[in-house]
Amino acid sequence: MWLLVGGIVSYVLVLSVIVLFTVFLIREIREVRRQTSFIDSVTHELKTPLASLRLAAETLARPQLAPDRREQLRVMMLEDVSRLVALVDGILDASRIAGGDVEPGEVDEVSLHELSSEIVRELTTRHKIPTGSVELDLEPELSLFVDPHALRTVLSNLVDNAIKYSQGEPWVRVRAHRRTSDKQVEIAVSDRGIGIDKADLNRVFDRFYRAPAEAVRSRHGTGLGLFVVSAMVRGMGGRVEVSSPGPGQGTTFRVLLPIRYAS
Ligand code: ADP
Repeated sequence: MWLLVGGIVSYVLVLSVIVLFTVFLIREIREVRRQTSFIDSVTHELKTPLASLRLAAETLARPQLAPDRREQLRVMMLEDVSRLVALVDGILDASRIAGGDVEPGEVDEVSLHELSSEIVRELTTRHKIPTGSVELDLEPELSLFVDPHALRTVLSNLVDNAIKYSQGEPWVRVRAHRRTSDKQVEIAVSDRGIGIDKADLNRVFDRFYRAPAEAVRSRHGTGLGLFVVSAMVRGMGGRVEVSSPGPGQGTTFRVLLPIRYAS
């Protein structure tokens, strides 16, 4: 009898170890796959502006080049460089956060109007779309006492994604107001883009995660932006939420920050 019980216990123990080991192995394989796909994405992200920079530099060396073409190439080169700088900054932020550093930097007063207008100008130029494609609907004179780099990174990533994952003519709206009911400042970035499948909604903030849909994979990206956004919002004492009715039906990201930061 005791021999039988002992046999069953050892069998259950061995089975549990095998199950645990398999779960661990599957998670490791998934992580390696995500990292490999991240390296592929970064390589692609680096290759495009670098190839364009090389071509521009070679063209600039031609002595008979017209002055307006020279100016056009100079602007193109600056755009490529700013794309590379944004990519490297994003990777550095993500690796700092993955290393456990989510402390915000120095706090300063940030005017939401000035910051949002600057971001809209930068991103509409980078994506070559009209400035009016991003609507600003902000409560007048709303300032926040936060780490300016963190807030800029959060807004810039959300608006950049909203433009990038648009379908047809991009349309993005940034709304911000104080919610006196629960003492929060709400900043919502909405788009009418490709939307997010229900199954992906709670994974989009994971490091390296990119939804498997073809509409996502056909656009450039590294899967780091929302990971950085979520850590930076947490660092500012807030939280970020995402909602989408489903594929093809747009997306809204809502950032909620404690009202004590607002003036
Ligand atoms: P990526 O570099 O892939 O854009 P992010 O971390 O910024 O990485 O976003 C993670 C994933 O979340 C994206 O790959 C995409 O699947 C989804 N996503 C983010 N923003 C949007 C959006 N505005 N509309 C639809 N899907 C989005």
